[in-house]
Amino acid sequence: MHPKKERTLVVIKPDGIQRTLIGEIIGRFEKIGFKLVAMKMLVPTEEFVEQHYTLDPEWRRVTGEKRVKAAKEKGEVLPTEDPYEITAIILQKLKKYLASGPVVAMIWEGAHAVEIVRKLVGGTEPRSTDVGSIRGDYVMDSYIMADSDDRAIRNLVHASGSVEEANKEIALWFRPEEVINYRLVQEEILYDVNLDGILE
Ligand code: GDP
Ligand code: MG
Repeated sequence: MHPKKERTLVVIKPDGIQRTLIGEIIGRFEKIGFKLVAMKMLVPTEEFVEQHYTLDPEWRRVTGEKRVKAAKEKGEVLPTEDPYEITAIILQKLKKYLASGPVVAMIWEGAHAVEIVRKLVGGTEPRSTDVGSIRGDYVMDSYIMADSDDRAIRNLVHASGSVEEANKEIALWFRPEEVINYRLVQEEILYDVNLDGILE
């Protein structure tokens, strides 16, 4: 498959909708050159949220380990260092968070979509992620604050973490007929090999 055909799932989470950032977030993906090929608004159920996060069998381990590493860097003591126990607690909070209101789910297509969308979105914790990313620019939530208030980190958007994860998530969120194959005029300048036809 040509890199320009790569697709990724992005979900604007309930806090993104409540912060009236839908347009701003979509604008970031549009401006870099990605093509929107599917989009819908819905209120996910808690069961659906669990399905979504557990599609990747490694997610529980990786997410728990990421949290332990962040705690070590800050000298923070966690109630447990078992990644699976940590993720079980996070998942409970995530289900409440994502099922709390409408979300906007989208599929974006373009060169290296998974990797570049993650770069635009930024790291999991808004507090420590780079300025210039969506999570770094529009919110300042932290692990410490979210954990002490017993809730999920509010970081505005979800984006698939790998191509494999993207394919599974897209199949979970969208039926094939909801995805639209179409030509976007700007793709010529992004991807065409020959730039003939510009001069009159
Ligand atoms: P992402 O891929 O950057 O969204 O991060 P993960 O897939 O690891 O985690 C999914 C979501 O769970 C994150 O976007 C956060 O909303 C939330 N989350 C992850 N780790 C923690 C944590 O340690 N504490 C809290 N409160 N929320 C977390
Ligand atoms: Mg993830």
